[in-house]
Amino acid sequence: MTTTICPKCGKDTTILLSGVCKECFFQNFVLAQLPQVLQARLCPTCGARFTRGRWTDEYDIEAVVMKTIEDELSIHEAADDIEVCISPRQLTPHMYTAEVEVGAAVQGEWINANLFTEIRIIRESCEMCSRVSGGYFEGILQIRATERTPTDSEFETCLRIADMTINRMRAKGDRLAFITETIRSKEGLDLYIGSVGSGRHICKTIIEELGGTFTESPSLFGQKDGREIYRITFSMRLPRFTPGDIISIRNKKIMVKHMEKKLTGTDLADGSRFIATEDEISLAKHVGNIRDAVSAVLVSEEEHELMILDPFTFRTVNVKKPLVFSITGDKEILVIRIEDTLFPLPLEKRKNDD
Ligand SMILES: [Zn+2]
Ligand SMILES: [Zn+2]
Repeated sequence: MTTTICPKCGKDTTILLSGVCKECFFQNFVLAQLPQVLQARLCPTCGARFTRGRWTDEYDIEAVVMKTIEDELSIHEAADDIEVCISPRQLTPHMYTAEVEVGAAVQGEWINANLFTEIRIIRESCEMCSRVSGGYFEGILQIRATERTPTDSEFETCLRIADMTINRMRAKGDRLAFITETIRSKEGLDLYIGSVGSGRHICKTIIEELGGTFTESPSLFGQKDGREIYRITFSMRLPRFTPGDIISIRNKKIMVKHMEKKLTGTDLADGSRFIATEDEISLAKHVGNIRDAVSAVLVSEEEHELMILDPFTFRTVNVKKPLVFSITGDKEILVIRIEDTLFPLPLEKRKNDD
């Protein structure tokens, strides 16, 4: 075995660690270091923590304390198989102490270190919460309906979608995903949104569910650091007709099922599927809603016809039998009166109805 002389103590040694013998190496070895006093900045409103120059993620206070210690703890680079155990203790709402035990293998020897630190909690509003309280917004979402006012259920759906989308975007890290203000007026709903991205997602999700269209128009709002700041107005138009509306197109009475650019529905005359083009929609007229449907006694059922007791005139009338309709136990069916004509409602068969 070759031996060499330790330049520090002059003894013979078989190995050199960082240029000195093992004894000398461990004499001055410091496994772990931690400042005696640490500061943790956190937002009292949302729990965000300020680290490396920005506000990030959301924690409870204990987790903020742990993260702060983990970030500040430095461990010797020669250490392997490191084990760290942090035991924080709250002294006051503004101060924690913590004992930090570190164990690690260094050059085949197990080394332990016990450290203590004090963590001072600084509570200040994060940039997001101060923007929320300052009424900040980048986008205005104006929800309107074409040639009508949005219904209560549409308002509810829009608000539910907005909340859901905001939560999803926040979880994905968009800290400006918030709604500063919600204004409901006769014409519709205005939502003031923190980030343009979340505004756009809300529009897309509403259209998926309710149909309609939206456009974006930027307007110059001001300048910041030499950059021009724009606010975006999202103009949403919910469709002219909503599911359940009954409309008249080329003398056909159509029950609306879905409307985006095109409209799908059911022809009340026979229960067949109907798809209207944009041109046809522009000529369509609103004539009723399935809410106005009433029960009528079914007198008899032939191959192509139904005989119904008209609940308005109490006379029996023959109507064309729709492809699908439902009869209740009392031999009643739902009918709707449109412009003095009675139509049996072609209700969809549910899957397990057979
Ligand atoms: Zn030595
Ligand atoms: Zn906050």
